[in-house]
Amino acid sequence: MVAALGKYIAKTGAKVHIVTPLYRCIKGHPKLHKNAQMLDVILGNSNHKAHLYEYDASQNLKIYFVDHIHFFDRLGIYGEHHKDYADNAERFLFLTKVLLQLTSILSRRPDIVHLHDWQFAMFPILLHQAVHEGAIAHPPKTLLTIHNLAYQGIFPASQFFLTNLDSGYFNPSCVEYYGKMNFLKTGIVFADFVSTVSPSYAAEILTSQWGCGLEGVLRARGQRLSGILNGVDYAEWNTHSNPHLRFSYSPENISGKGFEKKNLQSELDLPAENVPLFGMISRLVEQKGVAFLVEALWQSLNHPMQFVLLGSGETHLENALLKLEKHFPEKVRVRLGYDVGLSHRMEAACDFFLMPSRFEPCGLNQLYSLRYGTIPIVNAVGGLKDSVIDESENREKATGIKLTGFTSAAILEGIYRGMRMFGTPAILNAFRKRAMSANFSWEQTAQKYVKLYRTMMEH
Ligand code: ADP
Repeated sequence: MVAALGKYIAKTGAKVHIVTPLYRCIKGHPKLHKNAQMLDVILGNSNHKAHLYEYDASQNLKIYFVDHIHFFDRLGIYGEHHKDYADNAERFLFLTKVLLQLTSILSRRPDIVHLHDWQFAMFPILLHQAVHEGAIAHPPKTLLTIHNLAYQGIFPASQFFLTNLDSGYFNPSCVEYYGKMNFLKTGIVFADFVSTVSPSYAAEILTSQWGCGLEGVLRARGQRLSGILNGVDYAEWNTHSNPHLRFSYSPENISGKGFEKKNLQSELDLPAENVPLFGMISRLVEQKGVAFLVEALWQSLNHPMQFVLLGSGETHLENALLKLEKHFPEKVRVRLGYDVGLSHRMEAACDFFLMPSRFEPCGLNQLYSLRYGTIPIVNAVGGLKDSVIDESENREKATGIKLTGFTSAAILEGIYRGMRMFGTPAILNAFRKRAMSANFSWEQTAQKYVKLYRTMMEH
């Protein structure tokens, strides 16, 4: 998301620098060149060296990859074998301190530092201390974007010394959270402005139901909290000349979608029947509503329909899906794994796309589904609520089906609504055309962020 946002903000004419770790998967990329400068970073009592690699992505966009001898050259990003790395506080404080130094040594001081998630959320407090100590005279404004409030970066108080912050900051109105250190909370308190990835999620997280314990801190930010929906890279997610698809189609001529359906049925060895095809591509975790969906499918699959799933995750959910496939071998295909090509073919082939999430900060697949003319069936939360229009909200503009709650009964009702829509081709086609014409481009999202940056600079 950060790379796409950076690219599109740079296209508006702003100069953008992205700072990110040099993970193993990027190391050795031929387009990276090493910066002669080396930075010294103090973490607690130790001194660490940061090497910088640069990549000039375009005239206005430079990416800094931060290298460290053992923090980032690892198999995983945040952990391995479903376990977080024990030194994650140290790794990301190191990165945040590199960012702080960079903002002072760049030839032009940045106006805005846009931080994402807990990994960089300690930046504003480090900046606060640096200003207080007189080390930085004209601080940039800081924006913290929360992509998922469930991930907060909570670490033992014993690691507070790594911040090199004054001990006075370790109190409940700053860093402390029930005796521990909470990076995201600290960022929410100290950033000039906080945003999330959809307007509805920005409102939801103010409640105790969705605030993950931070609702009070978020409420205290008042007007300095807002939501901006992520965008879609339509150069990648489109139904024309797409290397992953065999057929092209458009709102004016949707026939290629039917051919993609036959193609997928053949690829997955499903009968080539003209029945509604429902799909899902997802991490298989509780948040995504998979258990309720499986319950609903046990009933709905007694009717003419097919269901295809691509994803991986918790073992009990994978097993529940495999059991369903075993019981309905002519109707269900479950592909466990990660497959970008198949995800495009499924988006193109399916008639309906299921996203019955319990919560969804933004969600991307409903946006891809809309562009592919695949009617999204969603729980009306977060970004799903903001991007899909149900008939009950606006008959002329409807693009999808919104469920009435996070229950298997609501999902079953949504599937039945889909089946009825499939039985009335004129209505289905009208939905498809409207869905394909909806625009959630990165250009629009980037413009909203630039507007927010301008407002921040005025205050
Ligand atoms: P989340 O970030 O919570 O997992 P999103 O809908 O925001 O959910 O984004 C998930 C992204 O990952 C989408 O682009 C989706 O297509 C992709 N994805 C998830 N699982 C798979 C998979 N098994 N194979 C291919 N792509 C996947």
